[in-house]
Amino acid sequence: MDVYMDNNATTYMKKEVLDAMLPYLTQQYGNGSSKFYKIGRVAGAAVRDARDVVAKAIGAKINEIYFTGSGTEADNWAIKGAAFAKKDKGNHIITTQIEHHAVLHTCEYLEKHGYEVTYLPVDEYGMVKPDDVENAITDKTILISIMTANNEIGTIQPIAQIGKIAKSHKILFHTDAVQAIGHIRVNVEEMGVDMLSLSAHKFHGPKGVGVLYIKNGVKIDNLIHGGGQERGKRASTENVAGIVGLAKAIEIATENLDENIKKLSYFRDRLISGILEKIPYCRLNGPTENRLCNNANFSFRYVEGESILMLLDMKGVAASSGSACASGSLDPSHVLLAIGLPHEIAHGSLRLSVGDNTTDKDVDYVLEVLPPIIERLRAMSPLYEGVERREN
Ligand code: PLP
Repeated sequence: MDVYMDNNATTYMKKEVLDAMLPYLTQQYGNGSSKFYKIGRVAGAAVRDARDVVAKAIGAKINEIYFTGSGTEADNWAIKGAAFAKKDKGNHIITTQIEHHAVLHTCEYLEKHGYEVTYLPVDEYGMVKPDDVENAITDKTILISIMTANNEIGTIQPIAQIGKIAKSHKILFHTDAVQAIGHIRVNVEEMGVDMLSLSAHKFHGPKGVGVLYIKNGVKIDNLIHGGGQERGKRASTENVAGIVGLAKAIEIATENLDENIKKLSYFRDRLISGILEKIPYCRLNGPTENRLCNNANFSFRYVEGESILMLLDMKGVAASSGSACASGSLDPSHVLLAIGLPHEIAHGSLRLSVGDNTTDKDVDYVLEVLPPIIERLRAMSPLYEGVERREN
């Protein structure tokens, strides 16, 4: 049996999305910027319609939506673009210790170029305190970048509260909302953000296409230089099919939001209660409330996350031990360390993230195969042997 439990890493593309994209990969292959003939105008109109759909889905205006090549690009653009545009006003950026590497590594890059970055700590559930944000502001602060929801432990941040703080100090506020679409309501006005990043492949759209929302009046530098696409702000021939797919996917995800949240929370909660009940020396990482409806993350003492993944893979279960982007590295997840887990416990972590195609049978299967995997790995652990001996 094959079970996909890594929907925070990516999601399958819906058939409706593929159907919407196909014409632009076949007959309607025009360049969206070629206005002097029909096939170009058709492509251009498709991009325009997609922009309108995305704007409506997040409560923005059509001219506030910029298509990018990914969520990573949107994060890079928001942060570098704001930093470069505001360098005469100041050089200080506020973010958190648990951002995605698309934000963290961008901030580290800027530090090498004279910017100063405050990486705010989070509490044991991964929550940022709005007071900490306010206290970190100096007269040099030009940007606050705090993610809407964490990709590893699912923490949903108090974005609207932080938005009010940013506004009262007249500081630009960016949020990485890559994990939010289809899981929580995203409305740029209610959130009080100036910039917001999205990525289609996290909500059943295609890979390699994202969005940066930039509020009207906010001026940031370009990241990609070249032609005049995206109203001169993001050069490169439009990925028409990808953009159409992103729009279809966001439309479906936001239309069915309440239903989706209900369904995903049910599977997530079955996994959480089942695993905590069946497996000793196990903890849930991340909050119980204000948590992404599709994310569960556990630490199992006395075992290694990578070994769990390998044995799960042999049983046909696809999962993750941290963020997909960090895989291949032996360092424990920076997010788990930031919530205070010691290295050895952070190492034994497992992220299971459910999705649109998850079934009760999938959850039953994981609850059946995971406990013996943990038991088997613990049987090989000298540390666990000591624990067992002490208890018997
Ligand atoms: N931000 C968050 C919170 C993510 O989870 C991811 C993907 O894992 C990204 C940014 C990067 O998005 P993309 O894969 O489109 O570059």
